[in-house]
Amino acid sequence: MRRYRYRCTVCRTTSPIVTEIAALATVGEDHRQTLHGGHFPDDEMAGRIDRLGRWYAALSPLTALHAHIADALSDLRDIKTLGHYWWASAGATLLIGATAALALLVLAAAL
Ligand SMILES: [Zn+2]
Repeated sequence: MRRYRYRCTVCRTTSPIVTEIAALATVGEDHRQTLHGGHFPDDEMAGRIDRLGRWYAALSPLTALHAHIADALSDLRDIKTLGHYWWASAGATLLIGATAALALLVLAAAL
């Protein structure tokens, strides 16, 4: 399940979580029309977030990969809650570590 948020840095407010990109555009447009007369606030942000509320665009690639996997694993248990279950976070770390180890093994075997 994908989660999105809109943030207005002028008003210093963040929208509730929406689950569709079309709803995100509506939230942003409604905020601009209602509070800013249709103007675009400087540095406004809109995008996909992980279950911890972090913007994917602001995460490093490795952290974003971990967040994607931990999100997917946590969604298996419950899609309505936020946060990562400890086992989902550990599973994501294990999966990334195992993949890196496997790639290293294949590389070492090839040389
Ligand atoms: Zn605003």
